[in-house]
Amino acid sequence: MEGLLTFLGTGTSMGVPTLGCDCAVCTSADTRDRRLRTSVLVRWNEPGNGAVPGSGQERVVVIDTGPDFREQALRSRISRVDAVFYTHSHADHILGLDDLRPLSFKAFREGAPIPLYAAPETVTVLEHIFAYTFSPQATYPTRARVRLQPVAERNPVHGVDFLRVPVMHGEMRIAGYRFGRAAYLTDVSDIPEESFALLKDLDHLVLSALRHKPHPSHATVEQALGWARRIGAKNTWLTHIAHELAHDATNRALPAGVALAYDGQTLPVTL
Ligand SMILES: [Zn+2]
Ligand SMILES: [Zn+2]
Repeated sequence: MEGLLTFLGTGTSMGVPTLGCDCAVCTSADTRDRRLRTSVLVRWNEPGNGAVPGSGQERVVVIDTGPDFREQALRSRISRVDAVFYTHSHADHILGLDDLRPLSFKAFREGAPIPLYAAPETVTVLEHIFAYTFSPQATYPTRARVRLQPVAERNPVHGVDFLRVPVMHGEMRIAGYRFGRAAYLTDVSDIPEESFALLKDLDHLVLSALRHKPHPSHATVEQALGWARRIGAKNTWLTHIAHELAHDATNRALPAGVALAYDGQTLPVTL
């Protein structure tokens, strides 16, 4: 099945421009230097009735709902969400959950709340922060119609399998995802040996790379390039980028097949 992968945001946790900063990247006129918080969208059309062109239902999966989710959804004209996959529980990846509300009412009218796939540690944080949504006593009438779903190794969503790919984020073991011939690994500081087996034969690998200077819980560009070489995807796209990296100048220095992604960029993917 053919689908599309869109970068909803490619910025690190503070976003770029970073508040209070007047560096060259934060004040750049290049729109690719403006980065909302990291998230991607995967969309495809389910095979419909062959006799009626375009009759297949559009399916939409979002990986993480950060604090910019609403703006990102408007910009990418997201009018439905069939599932959300969470990578981990840090603020820049979860704080837009509440903005799923209007789309969740729509899903609920169609028959079911939106499933939110998350690991147990992430579920615990989501239940705490969004207690008015998830508490069994919650009575808030316009709470999101969403359902926490423990993420498994293989998670089928309307004909597409989302495979969990464990990665390390500092001391935390968090979730990356593979879908068809693409994989999305953000907030990576290390890749466990067993995860490389899940990353073979990729057309598109998305990998986080914060900056050149080392950081305890994020890979540098150089570390990401090392993994990119080993994994050998046709294309590797870097995301979760800090204001130290100017889009154009950085891309000119990267090897063939590797580039910084930018907000709104869309790639065809085989699912
Ligand atoms: Zn992050
Ligand atoms: Zn800056």
